Amino acid sequence: MHKQNLIRGTSPLFIILFCLLISSCKDKPSSDAENKAAIEEATEALETILVKKESPEKTFRSLKGLADSTFVRLADFSDGFAYDMRYATTNNFLKEQVYECGECYTRVKTVKALLAANKAFKEKGAKIKFYDCYRPNSVQYKMWKIVPNPQYVANPKKGSIHNKGGAVDITLVTLDGEELDMGTDFDFFGKRAYHDNLDLPKEILVNRMLLKETMKKHGFWSTRTEWWHYNLQGAHKDPIANFNWDCE
Ligand SMILES: [Zn+2]
Repeated sequence: MHKQNLIRGTSPLFIILFCLLISSCKDKPSSDAENKAAIEEATEALETILVKKESPEKTFRSLKGLADSTFVRLADFSDGFAYDMRYATTNNFLKEQVYECGECYTRVKTVKALLAANKAFKEKGAKIKFYDCYRPNSVQYKMWKIVPNPQYVANPKKGSIHNKGGAVDITLVTLDGEELDMGTDFDFFGKRAYHDNLDLPKEILVNRMLLKETMKKHGFWSTRTEWWHYNLQGAHKDPIANFNWDCE
């Protein structure tokens, strides 16, 4: 498509230049004003071509040949997700920034399941927004130091499935980026965030059910007390990881 645009963009330029060079294009000699207008038009066409060359359409990495256990950056494979990486800000229950910058890294098998789930959400006019993905074990230690309570933070010695690259904290947004009402904010610790709390407005229950059922169909299981947290099946068996992504 990009190539076609270039060809389409090129032809008027050549027609204009051709007409400028070959006077037989016109019945009478061109006036200065006509020449000036033609040159301006040609310059504009050339600028359009140059801009297109400088910003080609985004290309994505292929999952082909990558081992399921490899850690990758989700945004390199799709631009169909939204992100609000809360631990790279102070807008989280710790009230501290524990990531240098916000990125969503996870294992290839988790990426495959997320891409499939997001495709299903898109058919319903929604898409996944991430709050957290893979979390280096060193960050788990940082969080544990701030809140040393297993009710809110997994013990870093044991590790969380986030440390293993198999858990994601997510919500749903419309294709325009507007959040669907899930009843509480991310990391709200209380009964209102429980999956088995049915004492909520119907709209919230429907939104949560769409999230849970679709994720379940694509290989993720949920925990009873956090509507935003999803684990990929079998991911608890993977080793804890501790690499940090680059922040440029
Ligand atoms: Zn989580």
